[in-house]
Amino acid sequence: MLSVFTLTENETPPGTGGTPARASTSGLNNASTRVAQPFTRLIRGSVRRLARSTSSRYHMLRNRIYYALKPFVPHAIRTAIRRKLAMRLRKHIGGVWPIMPGSEDPPQNWPGWPDGKQFALILTHDVESKTGLSRCRSLMQLEQDLGFRSSFNFIPEGSYRVPAELREELTASGFEVGIHDLKHDGRLFFSRRKFKRRAVRINGYAREWGASGFRSGFMLRNLDWLHDLDVQYDASTFDTDPFEPQPQGRHTIFPFWVPNPNGDSITYQRSAVNPSSKGYVELPYTLPQDFTLFVLLQEKTPEIWMRKLDWIAQHGGMALVATINRFWST
Ligand SMILES: [Zn+2]
Repeated sequence: MLSVFTLTENETPPGTGGTPARASTSGLNNASTRVAQPFTRLIRGSVRRLARSTSSRYHMLRNRIYYALKPFVPHAIRTAIRRKLAMRLRKHIGGVWPIMPGSEDPPQNWPGWPDGKQFALILTHDVESKTGLSRCRSLMQLEQDLGFRSSFNFIPEGSYRVPAELREELTASGFEVGIHDLKHDGRLFFSRRKFKRRAVRINGYAREWGASGFRSGFMLRNLDWLHDLDVQYDASTFDTDPFEPQPQGRHTIFPFWVPNPNGDSITYQRSAVNPSSKGYVELPYTLPQDFTLFVLLQEKTPEIWMRKLDWIAQHGGMALVATINRFWST
């Protein structure tokens, strides 16, 4: 039996574009209302765009400062601060998290899942430390016993080196090996020039590992730049997650195609590294991250996961979970 979350009114989360302007047309007669409505929509649209752009610039600046200071602040202090902020934020986002109203609408021309399947479930794991690396095999075994196969995303130039034998063991057993950022330092998108240089290295690892998927560190992203990567899919976005450093969600529980523009748009910087790519598939994660649920929000049970999973299944969407294996217990 599927259960559904109770939703409150549709609202924009703090820090993800601001509150839509509420222009009142009360007191106007019908004729003037007909004139006023398009104008009101225009104003609302402009305010939203302005708020989004301001908010996005604010988050970029904040993230730059945060990731520059991060190496000098102990992990426990960072987590304590983030926990406090997350607890405070949670009080205001009940209408848009863990479910964003409207995200259950399938995209245009959605063909449905292959073979008439009702919905999709995708398990992904980001391996972020030596400890995490040492736990890969036990997680692999656990999933195999339960009949699942998942994707393990490794950091190519982080605090550990992933042994070729482990990668081969995973793929031989039907698991997938993906790329998680390059250095996982929060600086991948600091500048276009640096990103291009790092993209060349990421593509080298993708070839060596036979990887076809990518996820950036901390879900920081620039979907236009990701065309530089020689991968089939990216999984650095989410439907709704106001707790993330770059909190703008995609508001869909379905995969979508990110076409490589033909360069006509003056706002798009063409891919210099991978210019022949037609585009890639974007897979937003749609179940909250384990770190958010159990470390920041101190949830004691996976109930939020189970309820949202039911809701996604009911709407025929994609349930994608992204766990960070720093937190797996042995
Ligand atoms: Zn990560």
